[in-house]
Amino acid sequence: AKKEGKSRYCFFQENMLIEHQRKIDIANAIEPALERNEFYICYQPKVNGDGHPRGVEALIRWESSVLGMVPPSDFIPIAERSGKISMLTDWVVETVCRDVADYFQHLPEPILVSLNLSAYDLKRYQFSDFIRSVFNKYEVRPDLIEFEVTEHAYLDNLDMASRFFNDISELGCRVALDDFGTGYSSLSYLTRIPIDLIKIDKQFVENIGLTARDDALVLTIIEMAKRLGIELCAEGVETQAQRSFLKIHGCNLMQGYLFARPLPLEALKAHFSDVA
Ligand code: C2E
Ligand code: CA
Ligand code: CA
Ligand code: CA
Repeated sequence: AKKEGKSRYCFFQENMLIEHQRKIDIANAIEPALERNEFYICYQPKVNGDGHPRGVEALIRWESSVLGMVPPSDFIPIAERSGKISMLTDWVVETVCRDVADYFQHLPEPILVSLNLSAYDLKRYQFSDFIRSVFNKYEVRPDLIEFEVTEHAYLDNLDMASRFFNDISELGCRVALDDFGTGYSSLSYLTRIPIDLIKIDKQFVENIGLTARDDALVLTIIEMAKRLGIELCAEGVETQAQRSFLKIHGCNLMQGYLFARPLPLEALKAHFSDVA
């Protein structure tokens, strides 16, 4: 038994080493991957209660020639810790703005396009100037752009974050609070920062219909958003039961596999011409 214990210990240690090496490999592969154009954006529709598209969220994808498909949940945290996140974010901002200028802005009814920022981005010197310059370069309508940030993003450095939010509000962009309810949130931030939309995290949506308390929690978030005059979007909607619960109780925007998966731009265009 002692012998087995020892080999198991080595086995765990080996796995940790492999895990650690993979993180290093990912961190080192990001910059060359940007040069080789291995990243692309998928867009997931946000729909209203009737299922009509009202916006899209840009989600980054990486098909690495060395590592295969790497999900953002793997490489975004590594990019954040290794300082590579700013070049990824810049690429996302630029790519999304190009797609807005080429396509989204010219739809008969232009729709909002959201993109995700990291906590780190909010602390970047002159990041809002970069955003402004990209808007100018592609002649993007700033009112069509929404930035999704999580609560820890501004808890991290409230001064820098406030300045960033003021700058982008002045530009005319919108701010969405992502993963609402999952952090260490202090509700007071809801009144201190100009938030246009709250996203109910999919863990709450997943639990709709499980217990009376799970339902009550979602109802409370819907009620809170209404009273604050903040728009609400539920993410991770997968079933008709979740959809009708949300719709009946007045959650006006939804996102999830029930409606559409995140799609590359060309596939999204095809999807939009189907649902139109
Ligand atoms: P998030 O912003 O909370 O995005 C929602 C995630 O839920 C996405 O995963 C989306 O594909 C997935 N999802 C959408 N509908 C459903 C559904 O019905 N069921 C389930 N189970 N999942 C659904 P994804 O694309 O893998 O992204 C994971 C996270 O990575 C994002 O969470 C976001 O935090 C981060 N991320 C993605 N793209 C970017 C980016 O361009 N920049 C930054 N900084 N972070 C990004
Ligand atoms: Ca998001
Ligand atoms: Ca989320
Ligand atoms: Ca999330």
